[in-house]
Amino acid sequence: MKQISHVIGGQSVEVQGGRTAPVFNPATGAQTAEVQLANAALVDDAVAAARAAFPAWAATPPLHRARLLNRLRDLIETHAQALAEIISAEHGKVISDARGEVTRGLEVVEFACGAPQLLKGEITENIGVGIDSHAVRQPIGVAVGITPFNFPAMVPMWMFPVALACGNTFILKPSERDPSASLFIAELVAKAGFPPGVFNVLQGDKEAVEALLAHPGVDALSFVGSTPIARHIYATGAAQGKRVQALGGAKNHMVVMPDADLDAVADALMGAAYGSAGERCMAISVAVPVGERTAEGLRERLVKRLATLKIGPGTDAAAEMGPLVTRVHLERVRGCIDRGIVEGAELVVDGRGFRMDRAGFEDGFYIGASLFDRVQPQMAIYREEIFGPVLCIARVDDYAGAVRLINAHEFGNGTSIFTADGSVARDFAQRIQVGMVGINVPIPVPMAFHSFGGWKASLFGDHHVHGPEGVRFYSRLKTVTTRWPGATREGASFVMPTMK
Ligand code: NAD
Repeated sequence: MKQISHVIGGQSVEVQGGRTAPVFNPATGAQTAEVQLANAALVDDAVAAARAAFPAWAATPPLHRARLLNRLRDLIETHAQALAEIISAEHGKVISDARGEVTRGLEVVEFACGAPQLLKGEITENIGVGIDSHAVRQPIGVAVGITPFNFPAMVPMWMFPVALACGNTFILKPSERDPSASLFIAELVAKAGFPPGVFNVLQGDKEAVEALLAHPGVDALSFVGSTPIARHIYATGAAQGKRVQALGGAKNHMVVMPDADLDAVADALMGAAYGSAGERCMAISVAVPVGERTAEGLRERLVKRLATLKIGPGTDAAAEMGPLVTRVHLERVRGCIDRGIVEGAELVVDGRGFRMDRAGFEDGFYIGASLFDRVQPQMAIYREEIFGPVLCIARVDDYAGAVRLINAHEFGNGTSIFTADGSVARDFAQRIQVGMVGINVPIPVPMAFHSFGGWKASLFGDHHVHGPEGVRFYSRLKTVTTRWPGATREGASFVMPTMK
């Protein structure tokens, strides 16, 4: 069986006889590889390699770092199709969607190519007579990225290009469910000419994560994954004195106002709810039509579109939705649908009966798209993240009810509103307790030069990722106050310095 291993200090590291986990092709259901799971000793090796590379990398001029990032940018663009195929083969998403993921990651590399500009400090001349003050941003040290299965290339690229641009070294701990993209990225990083140890990949699960969290040689941790683990990572890492940003789960609502173009809304919802089989943290999982007429019109249009949704393996260019990532996740999503029925929601379209009959793909982890209507706030299918192709319609009487519903939810990652009324949209953008808001935009993922992050239980920590917030997270501020000999001599003074 193919072994997926680690990259530490520029070397591929294979460990014999350690713990492993199976890796599947979700389209066929077949196991394709085994991923090696790092133990604490290997975590020590990875941290040692990243620490050893840190002083020289931190001292490397930002312009030189930017040139390497530029080379990496070109290499990722050249190999985008290969990377997309690797993603699809372990995640299951359709290749066109995987190409989109690569592009969104590439944009962060492009942002990080501006390292010299991003790291420019501030200076004030004459804060006192003959005294100047300047503030610079310096690297933190060894940064770790712990990433989820659903974007095996983009989420790592949210983190490491900015971390490296700022002069940190990096250890990526990708999801054990689709680990191959990380190794392909490591190959490209090496080809671009980054020194050994600057970017390391450690495969693993909980054991590796716990060792990284406890390791005194790790200075900063970026996590993206489910909320219970994000909460744990933030609490444990922060208690150890590390800088931590931990992005968690989501339940993203789309408000549909009575004046919205319902055909445009239904088209937007199809992609936002069922694209990538709903396995996106910015997927819309709750549609909130305002008023009964809006709800009926929306439901009718969605049912019509769902009848023609094309489900197939990621390699099929005509497929719009691929399988789920694993059989375990497939069973979980089925369980959520069963629970929704028991809770009393109306299952308008049932995806559980979907069978893939194409030869060679019968055992893939497929499920059809589902639509629930009349979902109530107390139901588990409303409160919890399903992370599958299941859209809930939660009807409300008026706009105020929609705002109340969203603001009361535990999560606050993304949301959107579809309306032609500017004053309603403006009010929504101001009052909604959510980190990323779309106005007539279904998946408002900020571009690389802005920052990505949710509110409430969707993010623990003070910084969002990439953009200016990413630079702040991966650097720390130092303020230097300078007086050169030759300025007036004043003798000893024991009072708080103030400007004379
Ligand atoms: P997950 O929480 O299961 O895993 C994320 C990472 O944590 C993986 O690297 C995994 O190996 C590690 N991990 C798993 N269990 C652990 C444990 N007990 N202790 C320590 N580490 C552990 O998440 P997932 O299923 O891979 O990804 C889906 C989740 O990620 C969803 O909840 C989704 O909303 C979330 N997500 C959020 C964002 C965001 O921007 N907020 C983006 C993408 C995904």
